[in-house]
Parts: sequence; C-alpha cells; structure tokens
Amino acid sequence: MNKPAEAHSLLPLWIGGEKVASQSVRYGDVTNPASGEVIRRVPFANSADIDAAVGAAGRAFSAWCETPPLKRGRIMMRFLQLLEKNRDRLTRLVTEEHGKTLADAGGSVQRGMEVVEFSCGVPHLLKGEHAENIGADIDCYSLRQALGICAGITPFNFPVMVPLWMFPVAIACGNTFILKPSEKVPSASLFLAELLKEAGLPDGVFNVVHGDKEAVDAILHHPEIKAVSFVGSTPVARYIYETCAENGKRVQALGGAKNHAVVLPDADMEFAADSLIGAAYGSAGERCMAVSAVVAVGDIAESLVTKLRAKAAALKVGPGDSENTEMGPLITRAHRDRVAKYIELGEKQGAKLVLDGRGLKIPGHESGFYLGPTLFDHVRPEMAIYRDEIFGPVLIVLRVGDFNEAIRLVNRNPHANGTAIFTRTGALARRFQHEIEVGMVGINIPIPVPMAYFSFGGWKNSLFGDLHVHGTEGIQFYTRSKVVTCRWPTQTEKPKLDMPTH
Ligand code: NAD
Repeated sequence: MNKPAEAHSLLPLWIGGEKVASQSVRYGDVTNPASGEVIRRVPFANSADIDAAVGAAGRAFSAWCETPPLKRGRIMMRFLQLLEKNRDRLTRLVTEEHGKTLADAGGSVQRGMEVVEFSCGVPHLLKGEHAENIGADIDCYSLRQALGICAGITPFNFPVMVPLWMFPVAIACGNTFILKPSEKVPSASLFLAELLKEAGLPDGVFNVVHGDKEAVDAILHHPEIKAVSFVGSTPVARYIYETCAENGKRVQALGGAKNHAVVLPDADMEFAADSLIGAAYGSAGERCMAVSAVVAVGDIAESLVTKLRAKAAALKVGPGDSENTEMGPLITRAHRDRVAKYIELGEKQGAKLVLDGRGLKIPGHESGFYLGPTLFDHVRPEMAIYRDEIFGPVLIVLRVGDFNEAIRLVNRNPHANGTAIFTRTGALARRFQHEIEVGMVGINIPIPVPMAYFSFGGWKNSLFGDLHVHGTEGIQFYTRSKVVTCRWPTQTEKPKLDMPTH
C-alpha cells in the first residue's frame, strides 16, 4: 500500500555546496519500479531556483578556472577514490530508482567512473599546439580555456553514468556546472554532489537542480549559461538543440536510437544469439545502445529466431536487487503500458509475435512495472514497431535477401546511434564499417560503447550538434581555443600597412 504523498521526504536541490529547498511548489513522485511504490518526492525547480544555481556557479567560476589544471585533476582523483569506496551505495541507488539488476547497475557505475579516470589527466589534455618561427622571430601557439557555466540535462536510464559522461570533463576543464538529472531517478546526483564536496571541490562549482520542462527551459534561456549537454529522446534533443542555437549557446544533444544488428549467414549462430539476447533484454531494453532490430540475412532467419525465442523465454525476470534476476522492471507503469501498446500494434500490423511478454506477474511484486521479453519475426520497415524507438524488452527480426540489402536498410533509418555485424568474414565486416552511416559500430560486439578515452555519440537523429561526449571531443566541447601570435621586437621597424606575409 502506498503512503500518502505528504509522508514521503521531499528531496533538496544542491546549490553552492549545500542542500537547499526548492522555491517551487510543484513536485513529482519517485517510484521503485520493482514494487511500484512511491519512495520519495522530487521538487520541480522553477526559474528562481535556476537563478540561484547560476548565481552560485557564477561566483565560483573565476577562482575555479584560475586553479591550475593539475590541482583540478587531483580533486578528480580524490573523487574517483570516493566513487570506488561508495560504489555499492551508488549501485543500489541506481537499482532502487531505475529497476535494473545490481550487476547491470554496477557495470554502469564503473563505466561512468572511467570518465572520471580520464578527467584526472586534464593537464595533459588541455595542452595546446606551438609553432616556432611562423615568421621572422614570431611564434604562434594555441590555448584551450574554460567556457564558464555549463549545464547537463540527463535521461532516466543511466542515473550515474550519463551525468558522469559530462560534469567530470567540464569541471576538470575549469568550468562550473549545473546538472538537471531525470526527475524519475534524482537521488544519485545528490549523492555525487556530496562526494565531490568531500573530494575538496569548492562550493558552487557543481550544482544539482531537479525538475521537468520548466527547469530545462529556464536553463536554455539563461544568458549566463554558455553550454548545454543533453542526453535523452530525439524530439527533446532536437528542441534543446534548436533552443540553445537561438540563444547563442554551445550545444551537444544526444537523442534516441533504433540499433540494428546484422547477422550474416556465416556468423557463429550460437554466439550471435547469446550476444543479441544480452543486448536486447539487458536493462529491460532501456538502453540507447540496446539492439532492438535484428537483420537476418539470407536463409538463417528460421534457425536464428528459434534460438532467440528459447533463450529469451528462459530469462529470469524479477526485482533488480534479487540475486537470480536477469531482467528487471520498466521505469514506470505508464512506460510499461506504452511498450505493451506497441506489442498490440505490431500484431495488428501483421508482424509475427513469437514471444509475448504481456501480463507477466511476479509473485510478491504484483504492482511492479514488469513486462517479459517479447520477440517479433517478419517485421517490415513500414511497421510502427520498426519505425519508433520502443525502449523496452521488445526485439524485432527483419528478413533481407543479402548483405547489400541489409546495409541499405540500416542506412535508411533516421536513427544512427549504434549498430553491429555478426560474421566470420573480415572483408564484409570491413565493408560494413566503411559504408554504414552510424556513429558507433560493433564487429561481433553487440553493444559497441566506446571507452571513456574515445568519444561517445551517434549520427543523424541520434545526435544534434557537432561534438560527441567525453574523450577528446568532450575536452573540445567544454573549452574554446585561443591562438596567440607573438614576437618580442629587438630592432626598430618602420610601420607597415600591407598584409603581413613574413
Ligand atoms: P526524455 O527525453 O524524456 O528526458 C530526458 C531529459 O529531458 C530529462 O531530464 C527530462 O526531465 C527532460 N525533458 C523531458 N521532456 C522535456 C521537454 N518536453 N522539454 C524539456 N525537457 C524535457 O528521455 P528519457 O525518457 O529520460 O530517456 C530515454 C531516452 O533517452 C531514449 O530515447 C534513449 O534512447 C535516450 N538516450 C540516449 C542516449 C544517447 O547517448 N544517445 C543515452 C541514454 C538515453
């Protein structure tokens, strides 16, 4: 039985190095998806809250950007040690509010920590270029300098990892930061703020505001915020990109996905099927790099679908904190029902429903937001279950005649986050990596998420903006370059009015 809303604690914001109450009267419920219970309330910040966060971040900026990068890097090292020490608590927070299994949540915390590890090397990463004697006695060199106040707006599906894609790099580069995490999973960000303070980060360098569109709009229109990083669905990503551009802000907006895995007839079918199961149903399909569409090439579809069905049907669904669980619930009841509607639509539009996850009840967790693994075969490109990002445990199989047809199908899709190919033929894999119009490619790797020292990002409707997150593109995004041309005159020269060519 849910407690009345008043009985749940209302989370604070984090501004200027301390917990503060929001000035807004609006709030939302945070639920535990495994039980369906409301566990806390989250304030929906208003423009006065955003002004307060910008004020704190603005006051902290000048001292922070003058702090030597070596010292900023050392704070990142202490932060990394604290993340290591508190890894278990962070993992449990992710599972409690998102629903994914503890093992999966722990993996996402680890991948986020790797960005902090990368940011510890910021003195090296900020080095510019230098050319001696570009003219007689003239040298030229470039500097990378902080932008000012940056903001991050993040999705529900990675409560720790996606914020960690952004703020460690931004802060290490000398910026101050305002994070607006997803209102569905707000607690981990507050804990990260406490750990940063304990690591020695000066007050005001990192701030957390909770909320919905009102808070986001106040960020997008605030004249003091110089850059916005966004990760979430495609329609919101496009809106963020356009609004930031109108307001003269630097922006990177990562959107949704429909990731294809192409399986060629010569692939190791058992290996491919196991990989696809993990990539489709891990985190209940709520990953931007989840494989949601399998492209079966040639005559393999029948045997591949048989294997996928058997493996998917055997998955253990349950609460994420239970030891045996392989797949947890979906984020909210509304989202679970939306995914179930797509299954209905898939059947109506003529796809073959091979495995139906609807109606699943977990004993003792009857109010949890569960949906079992679902598999469709004979899906065609015009169907809604192919066109839309479902973001749930629904895997669809499309059948194509040959390799060229598979490439054309993938390249026609407006989403282009990740893709994978399964094959034993190097020459075809090489053609695939060259011709495919997608930002991240896996060869016999179902979820090709780049490590922190590479950059992460898709193409087309999966990314609006020019630069991907973290890695060297992250450093570029959070700094601007200045080029200095310098001479120390030793002789008296007559003034020259023509274009210098040296
Ligand atoms: P979402 O777009 O609904 O929300 C993302 C953020 O935007 C949240 O902080 C939310 O509060 C805010 N927001 C929501 N609606 C808004 C609006 N109308 N105006 C302004 N702000 C708004 O996304 P979600 O449901 O939290 O996350 C799932 C989506 O994120 C999926 O589409 C998934 O593919 C995508 N995602 C993409 C990546 C990537 O790297 N490309 C990574 C993770 C998730």
